This record gives sequence, C-alpha cells and structure tokens, in this order.
Amino acid sequence: MTTTTVRVALRVKKPLDSNNEQVISFVKDEEAQIYLAENKLFTFDFVYPPCSTQQHVYESSILPLLDTFIEGENITVLAYGQAGSGKTYSLGTGLEINVKDQGIIQRFASSLFKRMIEYSSKSLGRISFEISVSYVELVGNEHVKDLLNAPTNQVHPFDTTTSSASSDHPSIREDVQGNIVWTGIKVNSVNDVLSFLKKKSRTDMMNASSSSSFIFSIILEQHVENDDTLVDNDIPTHLVSKFHFVDLASSQSTLADGQKDGLFALGNVLSALADESRRKNQHVPFKDSKLTRLLKDSLGGNSHTLMLACVSPDSLDYTETLNTLNYTNRFR
Ligand code: ADP
Ligand code: MG
Repeated sequence: MTTTTVRVALRVKKPLDSNNEQVISFVKDEEAQIYLAENKLFTFDFVYPPCSTQQHVYESSILPLLDTFIEGENITVLAYGQAGSGKTYSLGTGLEINVKDQGIIQRFASSLFKRMIEYSSKSLGRISFEISVSYVELVGNEHVKDLLNAPTNQVHPFDTTTSSASSDHPSIREDVQGNIVWTGIKVNSVNDVLSFLKKKSRTDMMNASSSSSFIFSIILEQHVENDDTLVDNDIPTHLVSKFHFVDLASSQSTLADGQKDGLFALGNVLSALADESRRKNQHVPFKDSKLTRLLKDSLGGNSHTLMLACVSPDSLDYTETLNTLNYTNRFR
C-alpha cells in the first residue's frame, strides 16, 4: 500500500422502481467512472453498480487492507450518503443479517480471526494476539455514547481545554503523545464480534439513525516474543492497530453548510489529507469536530482511509446524489 491517501468507492443502490428515470450512467470500459445526468463525469477508486454483491465490495476494497492492518497500521472506512442510500447495509450494522447480506464488518472480522489464528500457530507461539471491539454513537456530533456499556452513559471526551487531558470515558482517551487510546472489550471469536455488533438496540436505531454517527472498532494488539537468534531490531515487539467502521450521520444537502456540522469538518480533514502540501505542513483541521478528533490518528499519518459513498440513482434523489458526489470528489 502507498502512503496516506484517501480512497473513494462509490456504491449505487438499486433504483426504487426500474420504471423511474435514472440519473446515473456507468462509463463502459472504465470501471471507476460514472456520469451524473449524462454530462457530469466523476472518477473514483472503485465503482459498485447496483448489481454488486456484498462479497464483491468486501473482497475488492476491504480485504486488501487486512495485511496492512496486521502490520500495525490504522484503517478507517467511512460510509457516507443520504438516508436510505445503503450505508448501514454496506457496513453490516443493521439488525437482521443473513449470510449473503453480511456486510463489511462481519466479513472483515471473519478474515481477521482466520488469518491471526493461522499466523500465530505458524509462529510457534512467538506471536500472541488479542482482539477487542468497541462501539460508540456520536449523538448529534456532540456526545459520545458507549453502546457496549450502560446505554445512558453519556460522556464528553476532550471537553477540557488542555489538549492532552484524558477523559473519564471508559473506552476512549487521549495519551500525552496525542494518540487516541481506544480500549475495547476482548473478543474470542467472530461470534463474539457479531454479538457486540448487535448491541445497538432498536431504540438506538429509531431515535438516532440519521443524525448520529456510529463507530464500530476492531482493535488488534500483538506481542512478538524476541527470538535471540534473530538480531533484528526492526521488528516491533508490541503492535496495536485500530480498524474503525464508521456509519456516518446521513447527509442532507439542506444542512450541509453549518460550520459545526461534523460531516463538514470531516470533509475538510479528508480534503486536507488528500492534498500533499497541506498534509506535510500539518494543516489538517482535526480539531474542528469531535468526530475528527476521535479519528485523528486513524485518518492521517500512516493510516488508510476509505470513503464509501452511497448514492441512489433515482432522479428524485438527484440533488442529494450530486451533493454526495461533490463532497467526495475533493478527496482524491
Ligand atoms: P442508510 O443506512 O444509508 O440510511 P440502509 O443501509 O438502511 O440506508 O438502506 C436502506 C434500505 O435499502 C435497507 O432496507 C437496505 O437493506 C436496502 N439496501 C441498501 N443497499 C442495498 C443493496 N446494495 N442491495 C440490497 N438492498 C440494499
Ligand atoms: Mg443507516
């Protein structure tokens, strides 16, 4: 994988009714371009037309990040789009999921366990690992609610004015180097991961599904026991990497210009990361929202970001679709 870049995948959901007028057309012989309304051309890293399966989306855009994650780098996948565009479906944070419809999170958890078990057995016990998960809801981009603890537990990390202050939040704090330390709950199997993924209750979903962002995280911690015969100081003995799956608050063009809006701040951060000179000069405005502060060490630096933009092809949704395409077009 190359150094930091934000990659963008576009997923187009099925039209509501195939008799309706559709405003997205796919460019033949060029897999990663689309036309909106026949005259606006957009280019992505991946384009998934309505016929794309969950498995195909996972294998082409997420599975290639597995080795990078095991090597210790942080990864963030952000699902962006209007309400009903397929964010929750794509990630797999919905409630009822059959095997064929399993989303990115279930598939990734299963690949990760399989790979780590193989890997540690081949290393003859010199590599041990621990996987944990956390699940938080960012209510209105203001309050962090820990979905794996008491449902009423609302906490406010970073609300103190000193920058390196830790918070009283049980699962997220910032250490003196500015790393975000994300403590999860230990899981021993894919089924454990799935049971925590289902902790988001029906009420959580109903009350807040479009104005909240949800962050499901898988944290991998590895210990490598030094082999005395190998004098290689380059092998770190302790590695921690975080994979954040973010089901963003639904975008709405009528609300998108508020300075306080978390999606607006996220857009500014991602476009700064995509611009090499701004990135090098560290002009990345992580501090502008709680969402970007929580994710700051998983969006910049040696980390990898995939924006999964979800759109509807229906002409009725033209304005929202154009909004999503313009939003993500600044990141690559
Ligand atoms: P969002 O989270 O963006 O508001 P959802 O993921 O809940 O949207 O999708 C809305 C509805 O459309 C759900 O019933 C979901 O199962 C369905 N859906 C979305 N994308 C697809 C797809 N690619 N294939 C099949 N069903 C989909
Ligand atoms: Mg949703």
